[in-house]
Amino acid sequence: MHAVGIVAAAGSGLRLGAELPKALVPLGGRPLVCWAVESLRAGGVEQVVVAVPAPQQAAFIAVLPDDVHVVIGGDTRTASVRAALGAAREHADTVLVHDAARPLTPPDVVARVLAALAGGARAVVPVLPVVDTTVVVDGDGVVTADVPRAPLRRVQTPQGFDRATLVAAYAHAHGTAAEFTDDASVVRAAGIPVHTVAGDERAAKVTVAHDLRMAELQTERPR
Ligand code: C5P
Repeated sequence: MHAVGIVAAAGSGLRLGAELPKALVPLGGRPLVCWAVESLRAGGVEQVVVAVPAPQQAAFIAVLPDDVHVVIGGDTRTASVRAALGAAREHADTVLVHDAARPLTPPDVVARVLAALAGGARAVVPVLPVVDTTVVVDGDGVVTADVPRAPLRRVQTPQGFDRATLVAAYAHAHGTAAEFTDDASVVRAAGIPVHTVAGDERAAKVTVAHDLRMAELQTERPR
């Protein structure tokens, strides 16, 4: 199995309130995107392609290792992954798509995704259970329904795919109005079953300033 990693790093990170694109924001002295690339490599991924915002392309190239391939991302996460997928080398038979915004993903999570793919799954996502009571609200914020939480899962990255399956699913999604927030939903829209493996709380997404503070605390402790 030859795995290529795609890191989606072309978001603006407005919710973090930083001057920089989120993926360039430092954590423990290194940009988030560098942590994400290192997680993939430590988990067994060889080649890595990173999708970056066009205006900061040079800044990304300056901080990333020389052997990382940098491509210009798009207006949506889906467009960014599509661009990176086009640049991934043909000889890779497996693709792992990861968010730069999940810097502290333990290599074990990457390894679990790769192992499930090696076992024959065509699409694999790391997931965690939902611990809070979960409800539906209307436009006024009034609760209209309870949602049983037992079958619910929070979906993380890296998400792993058989390369041909992911390429076909992205071709299938092209031109549809559907909005996707991850790659597994692109694949599911093409009718492919998505399998799950255990995620990890340390793979939490950095979205708001508090998340970055929590990640800083994690880097100060032995991992
Ligand atoms: O916005 P959100 O936190 O959901 O973004 C998840 C990941 O997708 C981030 O790592 C972000 O950099 C990336 N992204 C992207 N291209 C976009 C929007 C988001 O690569 N246009």
